[in-house]
Amino acid sequence: MNRKGYLLDMDRVIYRENQLLPGAAELVAHFLKTATPFVFVTNNSAPTPEDLVVKLRHLGVDGLSPRHFYTSAQNTADFLAETNPRCTAFVLGEAGLSSALNNSKIPNDSIHPTYVIVGEGSPSAEKIAKAHELIEKGAKLVCSNPDYWCPVKSTVTRPGAGALAAYLEASTGRRAYYLGKPNPYMFFRARRLLHRQTHEVMMVGDTMETDIRGAIEIGMQACLVLTGSTRLEDLVDYVYQPTCVMSGVDQLLAEIEGEGSSARLPVSSGSASAAGGQLGERHHSEHPLRSRPRPAMTR
Ligand SMILES: [Mg+2]
Repeated sequence: MNRKGYLLDMDRVIYRENQLLPGAAELVAHFLKTATPFVFVTNNSAPTPEDLVVKLRHLGVDGLSPRHFYTSAQNTADFLAETNPRCTAFVLGEAGLSSALNNSKIPNDSIHPTYVIVGEGSPSAEKIAKAHELIEKGAKLVCSNPDYWCPVKSTVTRPGAGALAAYLEASTGRRAYYLGKPNPYMFFRARRLLHRQTHEVMMVGDTMETDIRGAIEIGMQACLVLTGSTRLEDLVDYVYQPTCVMSGVDQLLAEIEGEGSSARLPVSSGSASAAGGQLGERHHSEHPLRSRPRPAMTR
């Protein structure tokens, strides 16, 4: 029996700027045809899983249902419902966050909430001031994900939930607690949806600070794809390293199809093996100076 399961990041792994990346539709079709368990995991707390089904259908990926998605909003709701089931919340966020909290029976409270919960979105100055006031009065600050900024186009970004949480941390002097990637609880809950053990799951993502870090820290295999924010030469900057590096999900699909019924997860491909060798040399040799256009996406 094939025991493998996959967690997949979305932005810059299966699409970029509303364009599917090569191999994405074929990879999903392969997973569906072979009954391979997979879940898309995203730090974007704004959409609901139902929204994401529609988004991917418009991009050309059919056959998905809400159970194929797990968002940082769902992770936030799961965490609070599990650790403090009688809590209430004042929410700065969009439909994905509100509906996840509603599904977990966490009521809205603008008088004396247990938590102020921050997600993606552009709340009014009045609402931010209200959140500040409630935190001053004792509400704990929780954020759906630590991303300071999110890519919109190749040269355009927007503020992320982490930036708004940082604003409230500065104004109140209280530290936020962050769910979503790389918090291991995100990977723990997403993995449970696959009905697989941790070592049987591979996380596929493009961002070292979230996708790869969280997977490695919980003991999952982590496949870095180079279709997003990380270049091969960036890896030298990180303490943790992906299990394998691939050019994109098209190469991942080729690896999976190539291994047939083998129980082996796709570890290093030819290029990834080469990358590993290069990395070993780079760690111990010169550190080339490079321009770095943006700091890391998260803290
Ligand atoms: Mg991504």
